[in-house]
Amino acid sequence: MTAQPKIGFISLGCPKALVDSERILTRLRAEGYGIVPTYTDADLVVVNTCGFIDSAVEESLDAIGEALAENGKVIVTGCLGARADEVLAAHPQVLSVSGPQAYEQVMSAVHEHLPPPIDPFIALLPPGGIKLTPRHYAYLKISEGCNHRCTFCIIPSMRGDLVSRPAGEVLEEAENLVQAGVKELLIVSQDTSAYGVDVRYGTSFWKGRPVKTRLLELARSLGELGIWVRMHYIYPYPNVDDLIPLMADGLILPYLDIPLQHANTRVLKAMKRPAATENTLRRIEQWRSICPDITLRSTFIVGFPGETEAEFEELLQFLDAAQLDRVGCFTYSPVDGALANELSGAVPEEIKAERYARFMEGQARISAARLQAKIGRTLAVIIDEVDDEGATGRSMADAPEIDGQVFVDTQDVRVGDIVEVTITDASEHDLFGVMA
Ligand code: SF4
Repeated sequence: MTAQPKIGFISLGCPKALVDSERILTRLRAEGYGIVPTYTDADLVVVNTCGFIDSAVEESLDAIGEALAENGKVIVTGCLGARADEVLAAHPQVLSVSGPQAYEQVMSAVHEHLPPPIDPFIALLPPGGIKLTPRHYAYLKISEGCNHRCTFCIIPSMRGDLVSRPAGEVLEEAENLVQAGVKELLIVSQDTSAYGVDVRYGTSFWKGRPVKTRLLELARSLGELGIWVRMHYIYPYPNVDDLIPLMADGLILPYLDIPLQHANTRVLKAMKRPAATENTLRRIEQWRSICPDITLRSTFIVGFPGETEAEFEELLQFLDAAQLDRVGCFTYSPVDGALANELSGAVPEEIKAERYARFMEGQARISAARLQAKIGRTLAVIIDEVDDEGATGRSMADAPEIDGQVFVDTQDVRVGDIVEVTITDASEHDLFGVMA
């Protein structure tokens, strides 16, 4: 038997990049490559980079530098790879550079520098492919790219316009994942609400029956799989309203990750985002009347060019009125190539930092009060970890990595179990409970 060629893999960036990494790893394993965790054991290293903000670019360039120093044979792919000149200027020794979703290019670069083995016995692939997430949950990417041109974002210039995967293909992948033991699917894309717009919601087939490549139909079919389905990156289009009854009926999780970015009309227009904030508040009220248990997560940007104190205060008032459950906040950072960099009225760094602190303080109070209100309730919790101190899981309101956790005083559960937990206490982000 020939020695198995071994690859080290570094995956940086967002869940969308993680899905790219999983696809490449699955292909590598399918062809018989071994995946190893150290530079010294690897014959070659692939770095999947992120280029979203300046700090991510730096982290990616550092990771490439480290891999070159420790191993020497490095293939670069991912979002930063779309800016090959920048990568090559910093690290001319890399063997190949490709952009996001460039699976074929990565594979042919690997073949060129480290030929695949011929032995079929080492080319066995676990069902469901290679997952970088724990076995009981998985990210499922339904489309690539984005048709919007938000002025602070360069994703469309890196990843191109929206390209949706046919619903049948997505559902088949979802079914395979469920068969491989996945209990929770996290639906990701750049713009989940727009799913299918590019293919005019064309029909594909799943289990021999037609299904439209449209978010509502996809969500309904995913709901039939009998697992937790969590929707991420929902752009606030009107069609989002159609998902809420599915949440109320328990088909998909009552969880909406809906980036709103700001609340002031002028700032939203400068960002090229939907700007009818009063409308948003009305819609939130409606969503809650249809599905009282809905968890709303959003992200916002403070210190956008030209943002005045009054406009920022409008955002704080919006937060008070909206009472969102989970909120992320970024201070505006001028990403190379973003249109917003040309807007006048750059907000000084210290004011950005001060607004960020006020924003987070206000929201922390809201989030904490919403968590306090859960004390005494019994919630379904998916278990992520069990150790000597007890079990750690998440309720339907908590996405992995970004939201809070539920600490359960038991060891009598297994990872991936979904159990009923009575909540006995709450901190600013997390809940504590006992088995019901
Ligand atoms: S919708 Fe999201 S991915 Fe698309 S341009 Fe706006 S911020 Fe970027």
